[in-house]
Amino acid sequence: MDFEKLGIIPELLNALRDAGYETPTPIQEEAIPAVLAGRDLLGCAQTGTGKTAAFSVPILQRLFARRARQGGSRPIRALVLTPTRELALQIYESCVAYGRYLPLRSCVIFGGVSQKPQEEALRKGVDLLIATPGRLDDLMNQGFIRLNLVESLVLDEADRMLDMGFIRDVKRIIAKTPKDKQTLLFSATMPREIATMADSLLNDPVKVSVAPAATPAEAIEQCVYFTDKAKKRKLLAWLIEDSGADSVLVFTRTKHGADRVSRDLFRAGIPAQAIHGDKSQGARQRALSQFKSHQLRVLVATDIAARGIDIDRLAMVVNYDLPEDSETYVHRIGRTGRAGRTGRAVSFCDYDEMPLLRDIEKLMGRQVPEQADHPYPMEVFTSAPKRQPQAKRNRPRPLQTRKGAPGRRTAGRGVRRGS
Ligand code: AMP
Repeated sequence: MDFEKLGIIPELLNALRDAGYETPTPIQEEAIPAVLAGRDLLGCAQTGTGKTAAFSVPILQRLFARRARQGGSRPIRALVLTPTRELALQIYESCVAYGRYLPLRSCVIFGGVSQKPQEEALRKGVDLLIATPGRLDDLMNQGFIRLNLVESLVLDEADRMLDMGFIRDVKRIIAKTPKDKQTLLFSATMPREIATMADSLLNDPVKVSVAPAATPAEAIEQCVYFTDKAKKRKLLAWLIEDSGADSVLVFTRTKHGADRVSRDLFRAGIPAQAIHGDKSQGARQRALSQFKSHQLRVLVATDIAARGIDIDRLAMVVNYDLPEDSETYVHRIGRTGRAGRTGRAVSFCDYDEMPLLRDIEKLMGRQVPEQADHPYPMEVFTSAPKRQPQAKRNRPRPLQTRKGAPGRRTAGRGVRRGS
């Protein structure tokens, strides 16, 4: 299947060729003709599937086709709502690249930076606006933005907007758009609230489901290192050096943890920086662009800061802490192994995290293979004191139930049990 067969105009075909895309991804094959035809769409798609082009290419084409009738004025005719600043910027950059041969104007707005340049850009007229809900809501309340002529609306990563508490802003924003617009809703998971929202917003939508949320890409090689909480620091430095990986994304559960891990790596002589919600927008963007251009070897991030971030040739993802929510694991490891490349996803698991690992394996329907050959094996087989009540409840019963379990293996080597 070629892009030509999807009905895409030459201006966009040339830009896709410039971007190095030869054939459409499955979601593009299904979504592009439907969106071009003006249909609503409900997309259940993993990140890394090419969903940005799946919605932005046909939207740009529609904006271009209807441009003549609009005369000289440039009202906002397409709006993309996305949860994080990084995603907003990434979508904007993609839209600029895909639309490079079209006389259309795109603009991105998000919080955490001065709103003045955004006001200026809006004043000049914008065809396609990409925004995070909070800042858009602010600018609308201040009278800088009108959405009464929006023809296409995209809700990207709707489940994450819900998790981040944006859903009220999103609903307020939608209420200001025309009823008869085209709506596309993308969500990696379908919690009840998103399903209800989809029901009320979408009119006879085309449904596109590329891979169930629980299925990580086949190209990702996964493994788990059983270790102790106190040893993760050294294990990470060892792993990064031992693997020789030139581009490593490390996930921690907390902002504080992200700072600590990047500091420790830096002290160990490995260039690393952290991104999370408490960092200034400038610092986040700087770290991210250094990482994307492979000038920075290790980026340490929390889930929210890293959601959906697309990094070309990311060699390895490390789960320094296992996520509480199993689906987050699938999203995290989806950062690597993108666009047909292979990638490696390594998880550190201490005694307290074993129930989390079991949940992840249950969700994926398969075991994560253990990597036993490393210098920092698990030796502590009791829960950390502060997590005692929960750990007791979830205590992994016999360690021996897992084939090659660390308890048996290390104990067999005469390693002390207990802390
Ligand atoms: P997305 O899921 O939109 O974040 O896209 C994931 C990655 O795949 C990005 O780096 C895109 O540039 C790339 N990509 C999207 N569509 C194609 C395509 N048809 N061929 C090759 N790469 C693509």
